[in-house]
Amino acid sequence: MLRWFAEHGRRDLPWQTDPTPYRVWVSEIMLQQTQVATVIPYYSRFMERFPTVTALAKADLDAVLSHWSGLGYYSRARNLHEAAGLIVGEHNGAFPDTLDQAMALPGIGRSTAGAILALSKDQRHPILDGNCKRVLARYHAVPGWPGESGVAKRLWSHADAHTPDANVARYTQAIMDLGATVCTRTRPHCDVCPVADHCATGLTGTPEQFPGRRPKKIQPVKETRMLIVYSPDGSVLLERRPPAGIWGGLWSLPECATHEDPYEVCVQCFGLETASVDALPGFRHTFTHYHLDISPLTLAVTDDSTDIMERPDLLWAREADLEDRGLPAPVRRLLEDFFRMDESPCQERLTA
Ligand code: SF4
Repeated sequence: MLRWFAEHGRRDLPWQTDPTPYRVWVSEIMLQQTQVATVIPYYSRFMERFPTVTALAKADLDAVLSHWSGLGYYSRARNLHEAAGLIVGEHNGAFPDTLDQAMALPGIGRSTAGAILALSKDQRHPILDGNCKRVLARYHAVPGWPGESGVAKRLWSHADAHTPDANVARYTQAIMDLGATVCTRTRPHCDVCPVADHCATGLTGTPEQFPGRRPKKIQPVKETRMLIVYSPDGSVLLERRPPAGIWGGLWSLPECATHEDPYEVCVQCFGLETASVDALPGFRHTFTHYHLDISPLTLAVTDDSTDIMERPDLLWAREADLEDRGLPAPVRRLLEDFFRMDESPCQERLTA
């Protein structure tokens, strides 16, 4: 593995130059559920804006979320920000030195903690991210879905047995790279694999049957109506979502259940009189556990009711304001389309 890594491993990823615990930590969190190619530009922008754990801890959550906008799974960004505060407050700004202390930080599980300490400090800890699960399940022909605790236990035990006492950082990067570039999800390249001679499923030509798939579940479908409430000066009302839950802490559009009257919602929730409701084309956004069918409605605020109550969770925003705010990607796209529509009511109002 190490010989293969020296020749074929990835050694020019941005977090591999100067692999401090902070830089490796941010990369590991971004790489959860996200491909390397997608992560690289986000990582570079994030590091430019928050170059140290202290800078991250001091930053406003909104600034952190806006640098995460488009990566999805926003609890990762909230946890990163909270953990940075704890590292500065409780560990004098230094990333914890032990697995248990690292795992006590929000958003850091056993595999992520192990990867950070192995890659940045060469400490001996096994890891079991998605790539390693696939390599180990195939190499040892471990049946079953790794999300089941019995299967995960077997894989952890194999991961531990393979982790060497020396060169841990290089071995850890090597097994990740092997999974990402050779032992790929479909059509693994067993012909060039450095461990093919001993791989149980490579030898029998059955690697794609491993690891077992997650049992299929039918995803429920939920519905919502998003209200694009625009003011006489052409700005749109944004509402900050509660800190916990889907899109927690992000700026989004007010929502209205399908059985509610959107005019009434505007009066009751924001004290705004609106007129001329129009429907825009609906679309589906898929979360891990359900689909959300979104029907956008535009509502024009009548000229004599432009004052919204002074609330920190409400904001009038123009198109230029969206960039610095943390918005869920589908809401950002919807608003960008709305502002740029040929006959956008905002354009009409701005030029009136
Ligand atoms: S031999 Fe094939 S299945 Fe086995 S680890 Fe290598 S690439 Fe994966």
